[in-house]
Amino acid sequence: MANGKILIAIDGYSSTGKSTFAKLVAKGLGYIYGDSGALYRAIAYFAYNNGFIDGKGNFISKSDLQMVLPKVRLCFKTLSDGSSATFLNGENIEKNIRTSAVSAIVSQIAEVPFVREHVNILLKSMGLDKGLVMDGRDIGTAVFPEAELKIFMVANDHVRAQRRFDELKLKGNTTDTLESVLESLKKRDYIDSHREMDPLTRAKDAIELDNSSMTLKDEIEWINAILKPNFGLEVII
Ligand code: C5P
Repeated sequence: MANGKILIAIDGYSSTGKSTFAKLVAKGLGYIYGDSGALYRAIAYFAYNNGFIDGKGNFISKSDLQMVLPKVRLCFKTLSDGSSATFLNGENIEKNIRTSAVSAIVSQIAEVPFVREHVNILLKSMGLDKGLVMDGRDIGTAVFPEAELKIFMVANDHVRAQRRFDELKLKGNTTDTLESVLESLKKRDYIDSHREMDPLTRAKDAIELDNSSMTLKDEIEWINAILKPNFGLEVII
């Protein structure tokens, strides 16, 4: 442990509540939250807007994307209200990357090895001082295999689809149905778990958290029961 701080890696299927949980744990420990999916979403958004992929995630020009990617400036910034936002070439694209259109193409981008290598460099640099809670699909297996605590989150299909559907509705999306949301989640899970490089899989030493019928308060009690005896840490909310 550096300065008594640890790395917490949270992986799992789409819409299992990883980011909500990870953000709360980070805040309650005074740690930084790392949203790895946001970087894949940002690259998918960039690739689509610049004509490197079509709206279905099929590549139009993979080699051109490979050439320009190192010049793309991607980072997270903390806004005045304390929230974190994803920036692409100086522009706040946080809202743009959370749409169903980006969800529909992101897994095709995320299976490309040069994209993963690029993102991994950015992610690893965030963990140098520890004190980080990062969520994603390969954090405990590929990005931080040395993480002191690894959690693998699962939830049943109906709960996941309903969560994502409610989230989209809150953002004013009225075109997606519960069925189309479930179909999109399953498609993403399939591509994420079957890709060649760093597929979504549970690390051998990850602890499973099934939050299908848990409240966020239950989840915090669950993680504190691990953090207190093993690391002398407590998430205070
Ligand atoms: O977490 P989120 O749903 O925003 O992630 C979007 C997509 O980014 C995932 O479906 C997956 O294709 C990709 N991803 C990944 N590896 C990560 C995080 C996200 O491949 N560590």
